[in-house]
Amino acid sequence: MATKTTEANSETRAAATDAAPSHFIRNIVTEDRRAGKNQGRVHTRFPPEPNGYLHIGHAKSICLNFGLAAEFGGLCNLRFDDTNPSKEEVQYVESIKEDVRWLGFDWGDREFYASDYSEQLYQFALQLIKSGKAFVCDLDADQMREYRGTLTEPGKNSPYRDRSVDENLGLFQRMRSGEFPDGSRTLRAKIDMASPNINLRDPVMYRVLRATHHRTGDRWRIYPTYDFAHGQSDSIEGITHSICTHEFEDHRPLYDWFLDQLNIHHPQQIEFARLNLTYTVLSKRKLLLLVKEGHVAGWDDPRMPTIAGIRRRGYTAEAIRNFCERIGVAKRNSTVDIAMLEHCLREDLNKRAPRVMAVLRPIRVVIENYPENQTEELAAVNNPEDPSMGTRKVPFSRVLYIEQDDFREEPPKGYFRLSPGNEVRLRYAYIIKCVGVVKDAATGAVSEVRCTYDPETKSGSSRSSRKVKATIHWVSVAHAIQAEVRLYDHLFTKEDPDDLPDGIDWKINLNPQSLEILPDCRVEPYLGDAARGSTFQFERLGYFCVDAAESSRQRLLFNRTITLRDTWAKIERGSKKL
Ligand code: ATP
Ligand code: MG
Repeated sequence: MATKTTEANSETRAAATDAAPSHFIRNIVTEDRRAGKNQGRVHTRFPPEPNGYLHIGHAKSICLNFGLAAEFGGLCNLRFDDTNPSKEEVQYVESIKEDVRWLGFDWGDREFYASDYSEQLYQFALQLIKSGKAFVCDLDADQMREYRGTLTEPGKNSPYRDRSVDENLGLFQRMRSGEFPDGSRTLRAKIDMASPNINLRDPVMYRVLRATHHRTGDRWRIYPTYDFAHGQSDSIEGITHSICTHEFEDHRPLYDWFLDQLNIHHPQQIEFARLNLTYTVLSKRKLLLLVKEGHVAGWDDPRMPTIAGIRRRGYTAEAIRNFCERIGVAKRNSTVDIAMLEHCLREDLNKRAPRVMAVLRPIRVVIENYPENQTEELAAVNNPEDPSMGTRKVPFSRVLYIEQDDFREEPPKGYFRLSPGNEVRLRYAYIIKCVGVVKDAATGAVSEVRCTYDPETKSGSSRSSRKVKATIHWVSVAHAIQAEVRLYDHLFTKEDPDDLPDGIDWKINLNPQSLEILPDCRVEPYLGDAARGSTFQFERLGYFCVDAAESSRQRLLFNRTITLRDTWAKIERGSKKL
């Protein structure tokens, strides 16, 4: 992992220590404003297609678009690029709005839909037909592919390319009114079949598609292609900087051509590198497959890299925004180490998450010399990083649970936790010593650890100075609350799940151990009232959040957000030493 030093990683490592790093898009906007372009206006947009849930890659685009607008006193629109009725759904629109809002961005009253521009786009198409720049073509998809040529060979003109304006207008009108079957005719731009850029070889602008659209219903029988709709939608909205990912670089000359031919407001398209993350996939198509085939429980499964998934996992919007700022904006594609995202999360949770005690794999401890019916309320600090978070009381009594892992009947060398004859400190409480064990008659396994405590060693008391090598967490059996805890690991076993020999399905790299369910954990009573979605540090174990979808008072359910081990901090320290 540490060896994967991509361009973004080395840039971001430097960035992580500085304040907001500048980047080439910010520089372009600054320069445009200095030169008085667009009267100094900055107007961006985030343009999702509502065909799936947003993922962490989209968060990069959201932070960039909304962030630049805010920084320069401009505006950012939320525009749904909904020109493909067959894959789009209202549930996706709703989830996208929820996710953008949750990330902390506000589009005001500027919630737009490319489908709202249908009539305007149709008029633009008529304008191009009338100026002899577009024609109706009867080639089917296969024929069109044949005529298109290849990267090394020019294409051939369609036999329908020289239709008269009147004939084109008539046919296009009839396409609109639904006279022709799906796929039978297209409207194409008349550009150049010999262009080295295949996107300019008379690209399709409209296709016949008699599908019901989630907003316009059955009103339209033709739909514009993304390439025809996108740039014109930006223009209609007065966008100044149309920021998109690299795959659209080769389409830019086509967008420019449309805008120039139509002679309308011309936004400047700027491409940046899309975010890739290790141990996951960032493609709506693939994420949809994981959901449909049941590899995960849904779009918001806490293992998913979707915004809904990582939110349910316990990520905070601050951590994600901070991550997006730190990774910067580069021109070249690269892969960011997921450990860096996790590092940003830990940094945020370290400050805000109260620290509590929970025992995930419990074993009973009986303190023989502690009075049977006594309970003490011990003071515990909620977060040493932030004294304003105060303290709470933790009940202590004669019978406790500790982690099975914190006891060994036969301790290996260097094991300082509880073992026969050995002492440990119980966090916020006393030093205890193991004086024996009780074993299950049938299995021979240790079922109970017998201890004594030293009343002179109460935490915080003036006589508590005696030191032992280990401090462990615990809960009181009589007071603890039962909970289910779900431990998550990376969704894929490989850093790059797509790195496969030909013909092998990427899903083979799914991690069969990405979810472990611990049904019988015990947490301190303080957590009984915890709100859904709230996050805690379980001392020594990691960060956990109350599951926002399924947890209830009757059945408390926690997701492990992240462990405490910060591999990225180690990488960072290592690189500073060099
Ligand atoms: P996917 O490849 O996941 O299906 P997409 O590009 O088809 O994504 P859109 O809904 O078209 O999804 O994306 C909306 C915006 O988000 C676009 O401007 C797109 O460039 C940007 N975007 C999508 N994926 C990423 C990514 N991984 N990193 C940065 N920006 C992204
Ligand atoms: Mg797209």
